[in-house]
Amino acid sequence: MKPYEATRLYFERAADRLELDESMRKLLLTPKREVQVQIPVEMDSGKIETFVGFRVQHDASRGPMKGGLRYHHEVDLDEVRALATLMTWKTAVVDLPYGGAKGGIAIDPRKLSVKELEHITRKFVDQIHDIIGPDKDIPAPDVGTSSREMAWFRNQYEKYHGFSPACVTGKPVEHYGAEGREEATGRGVGILAYKLLGNLGRKPKETTVALQGFGNVGSHAAKYLHESEYKIVAVGDQSGGYYRKEGLDIPKLLHHALQNQGLLAGFQDADRISNEQLLELEVNLLIPAALGGVITKRNAARIKAPIIIEAANGPIDPDADDILAEQGTKVLPDILANAGGVTISYFEWVQNLQYYKWPLNRVRQELESVLSRAFQRVWDEAKEHRTSLRTAAYMIAIGRVHRAAKLAGVG
Ligand code: NAD
Repeated sequence: MKPYEATRLYFERAADRLELDESMRKLLLTPKREVQVQIPVEMDSGKIETFVGFRVQHDASRGPMKGGLRYHHEVDLDEVRALATLMTWKTAVVDLPYGGAKGGIAIDPRKLSVKELEHITRKFVDQIHDIIGPDKDIPAPDVGTSSREMAWFRNQYEKYHGFSPACVTGKPVEHYGAEGREEATGRGVGILAYKLLGNLGRKPKETTVALQGFGNVGSHAAKYLHESEYKIVAVGDQSGGYYRKEGLDIPKLLHHALQNQGLLAGFQDADRISNEQLLELEVNLLIPAALGGVITKRNAARIKAPIIIEAANGPIDPDADDILAEQGTKVLPDILANAGGVTISYFEWVQNLQYYKWPLNRVRQELESVLSRAFQRVWDEAKEHRTSLRTAAYMIAIGRVHRAAKLAGVG
């Protein structure tokens, strides 16, 4: 099932619980604006190439719209629309004063030079600058983009609108970026894991963890959990899994990855296992932090971990989610689990608007307080309505957007 089909299914389940009528469901699901633009660029070869870019602004009932800018050859309007919708629910569940949006350009950034990427980014801004901005829609990095593209984005936007660092987040720290953006999502996963395990009565030293993915999210989650004294027995990446029953030496693994272009390949102090085996280990907590769709109806019944935190987007297919629910597995859903990144983006925007820079410890404290509050709200909602954490998270998010839309009226 494609990720947007899954999001739609979870929306419908929560909307049923909230007893939303058809007209309200249509209002909440229909994007406010969808833009497709032509991006003609002169390539290094001197040839003119024309690319297609999208920006979908899904909902602005709760504030300016927020969402990443993706550079990937498979980007299309359907995908961008689905991701924009997901951003509306993600910002709402964490209670950030934002709506949801997403953008993308159908290119393979690995096949383009830095100069070409800069031209494409600037041309895209030329086409959409009048519909974005600090109080309209604020892009951020996503798959295939980074702080580098955000610096170009801001620079180009300011040619039209003057000084406005808050027009985009995920910028380099030298360009009004926030301290702690790099670690934000993984650290958020760690904070939420601590809360969830605490509520389930699990003590750190007696809790074993398996973690799939050791990139930006996985490595920072591993660092946080290790520092909180959890026993991480397995980690994995594209090169396979690494297992040590007594617990892995996480600082050593982090150092190894740092020296090895981010990869775990060649790490010696562990037994080798496959990624499949990693997912099926007998551990207390499983964190998929790499790809979508890794737990499907094919392997769901073999997943032994009683607690799963969806650090990646959509790692569990809905069919598998139902099987896990029958097994009694607790799943913390992606819309909350990986919301640390957008939360720090919000802090960056706030600092930019106030011309006031926070030190890293303030960013970390505020992150912990926002995510802890959001977690407790989802936990309580699930308990009150005797439902899964996922349905509870969607109910809270949809309920908040619904109330804001209703209060604004349709005019
Ligand atoms: P990343 O590219 O930094 O890391 C991805 C990791 O997955 C790497 O360790 C890679 O080796 C591993 N991997 C790739 N193919 C694999 C395979 N077949 N089997 C096992 N591991 C494999 O990406 P990231 O930024 O850490 O993002 C990870 C997930 O979290 C993605 O689903 C992403 O959409 C989601 N996410 C990231 C952020 C963020 O701020 N970075 C925010 C929200 C959601």
